[in-house]
Amino acid sequence: MKIETKCLHEGYKPQNGDPVALPIYQSITYRYDNADEIGKLFDLTSSGHMYSRISNPTVAAVEEKIAALEGGVAALCTTSGQAAALISILNILSAGDHIVSVSTIYGGTINLFAVTLKKFGIECTFVDAEASEEEIQKAFKENTKVVFGETIANPAIAIFDIEKFANIAHKNNVPLIIDNTFATPILCRPIEFGADIVIHSTSKYMDGHAVQIGGVIVDSGKFDWTNGKFPEFTEPDASYHGIVYTEKFGNAVYITKARVQLMRDIGAYPSANAAFLLNLGLESLPVRIEKHCRNAEAVAEFLNSNGKVEFVNYPTIKCNKYNDLAKKYLPNGCSGVISFSIKGDRDDAIRFMNSLKLIENVVHVADIRTSVLHPASSTHRQLTDEQLVAAGITPGLIRISVGLENIDDIIEDIKQALEQV
Ligand SMILES: *Cc1c(COP(=O)(O)O)cnc(C)c1O
Repeated sequence: MKIETKCLHEGYKPQNGDPVALPIYQSITYRYDNADEIGKLFDLTSSGHMYSRISNPTVAAVEEKIAALEGGVAALCTTSGQAAALISILNILSAGDHIVSVSTIYGGTINLFAVTLKKFGIECTFVDAEASEEEIQKAFKENTKVVFGETIANPAIAIFDIEKFANIAHKNNVPLIIDNTFATPILCRPIEFGADIVIHSTSKYMDGHAVQIGGVIVDSGKFDWTNGKFPEFTEPDASYHGIVYTEKFGNAVYITKARVQLMRDIGAYPSANAAFLLNLGLESLPVRIEKHCRNAEAVAEFLNSNGKVEFVNYPTIKCNKYNDLAKKYLPNGCSGVISFSIKGDRDDAIRFMNSLKLIENVVHVADIRTSVLHPASSTHRQLTDEQLVAAGITPGLIRISVGLENIDDIIEDIKQALEQV
């Protein structure tokens, strides 16, 4: 099956007389014939649903679909993208371990790595994604256990060189985790370029309609957890009668461990209804993504030729520094997210934002509706103009997430708002 077909037919496969739409199994628990059957579930010697904090048939169908879309062996849905990032890391690292992450990643992930995980004894070194291999290698320590990057990063719309970082990670015998939220598996499948684990905030294009926060972790099944660096995978787990994950679960070991240890203990599993909504989004993802890309390309060109605009960050714009990486990793388009800077100061940017009539001011991104955000007056409000520049954000920088409205209406609104500046 090609990817458009997988979006419709992977996961739930109705049999003779079954409902065509994915059924919502809104049940906390599951009935078994006797206590022995339940005992086997707790020993992990038989598979089956036991409690909806760990698995549920509706969620499982969506997990299977997303694993197929990314080309992975298994997936675990979570209640948010943040929960996916947290669990993807905690499944590998413990207190005393170290992360190497590029600095061009989602702001929430930076907080998680730099502030919250630090409190748990996990340290992170942030590296410049464009540094040389030798320079990046210097960030590695004896206790480094993972490398982290993001396919298309905000707000610079930076494209991540997946192969380069997969090589560096594998030389150091650690896995590469990629946040593939903006690209979605329609535009890029990081596993094909050497990534070991892929995570998403499904709250963005996968959901598409801004209705349900969610996340997912996908495992490629390719990383060798028995290389000596990951004892949690190869030594007995006391919480399951001394089970050894790598002996028991073959190449599904990473997701199984995340589910039966961390999901059991943390409890960030989505409801059946949440998974049902996500599945609706996935079914139409390819057609939406294509239109987001075409509309964004047109908006980027329009902005790039407008005298009131200082610069535009979008990889298909001529001379954008990511032209080549975009051709390699995102040949069919670079998503609907653009950032650009108005000539002038903070107030000029705010005047533009306030003059928009159709385009909405929201904190969200990657939605069907075109929306804008001004980092200097929202997510990065506390910074001075000088600090903003240091963070790669000019006072006039605006992020625009191009939606599915008619392109003439989108451009008309931008044009009239620019005239007010
Ligand atoms: C939104 C976002 C997240 C966090 O996801 P939530 O679902 O909001 O928790 C992580 N990574 C990226 C790239 C995002 O855009």
